[in-house]
Amino acid sequence: MIKFLDLEKVNNRFRTEIDEKIKDILDCGWYLQGKYNDKFSKDFANFCGTKYAVGVANGLDALNLIIKAYGFGVGDEIIVPANTYIATILAISENGCTPVLVEPSINTYNINPDLIEEKITPKTKAIMVVHLYGQAVQMEKIWALAKKYNLKVIEDSAQAHGAVYKGKRTGSLGDASGFSFYPGKNLGCMGDGGAVTTNDKELYEKVKALANYGSDRKYHHIYKGTNSRLDEIQAAILDVKLPHLDSDNDKRREISKYYRENIKNPKIILPETYDEKAHVWHIFAVRTENRNHFKEYLEENGIQTNIHYPTPPHKQGAYSEWANQSYPISEEIHRTIISLPISPVLTDDEVEKVVEVINNYE
Ligand SMILES: *Cc1c(COP(=O)(O)O)cnc(C)c1O
Repeated sequence: MIKFLDLEKVNNRFRTEIDEKIKDILDCGWYLQGKYNDKFSKDFANFCGTKYAVGVANGLDALNLIIKAYGFGVGDEIIVPANTYIATILAISENGCTPVLVEPSINTYNINPDLIEEKITPKTKAIMVVHLYGQAVQMEKIWALAKKYNLKVIEDSAQAHGAVYKGKRTGSLGDASGFSFYPGKNLGCMGDGGAVTTNDKELYEKVKALANYGSDRKYHHIYKGTNSRLDEIQAAILDVKLPHLDSDNDKRREISKYYRENIKNPKIILPETYDEKAHVWHIFAVRTENRNHFKEYLEENGIQTNIHYPTPPHKQGAYSEWANQSYPISEEIHRTIISLPISPVLTDDEVEKVVEVINNYE
């Protein structure tokens, strides 16, 4: 069976170094807000090309804390793509803000920048972009709109660690960015983890305090904060893996290129990229009319797949107030999309087998 994602194999490449770090943490007995969190925060900010990074408990919290730190709440609107993982939208509604959904482009699966301006109202406070499947959003028009209407640009970079747009990495393409280190992400820890990156010192300090009980120093609480911290074990694991992220992403690019050049089946629509550097292929999503049939066929031939995602946010029970809204492009994507195996530990034989099986699909 070719697994959709063999996490054991992904992480076992770093076993010796990870064992050493965990032993060190056991030996020194310091588990939170210590040297590993400090080091990883610095290294990750460096990697993204920002001045600051704060480790937090998960990706949802990262987005949540950014919105909270900007002080956005009830009555404020935040523009967001209609096709994304639910966390992006939850971060907005958890703060009492109104998510304003915008259709994606069918070619990039990312928010369509040409459809944003018509959704801007006097209540709009920010545009939250999502670099979906690992492809950096083409930011030029979004920057122009943000400037024209005085809006913040918040990035959901949970799927796009290391992707580059115009020489800059995700995490540095907006005013602030949220990352997730959920185990299956391109940079993943062994539990939950996340980070906020920014060049804005004030925002950095506020997010850092909010994530630690609203405290800027011990037992001194300046905000009604929360508990959202990246623990030392996760930070240490991430710091072991970070130096390998670029080469892992290159491997994903290689596999993606091979798929795109060799899968030749009129029933399968392949994903596109506007620039090889802009995409880190967190997910290699193809579209096909009879998705369930295709999924079963692959399963029967020993290939595991996944669906990101079967139901668009506006059709989820949690947002029943949107049940009558219609986003046809987003719905079309959710109806037909299916994700093929892609990861830095997939072997050449496995990649060739995937192509062969797909080319024989009728
Ligand atoms: C994974 C993910 C998140 C949430 O990250 P968690 O660490 O699971 O909270 C947010 N947005 C997107 C697009 C994601 O893929």
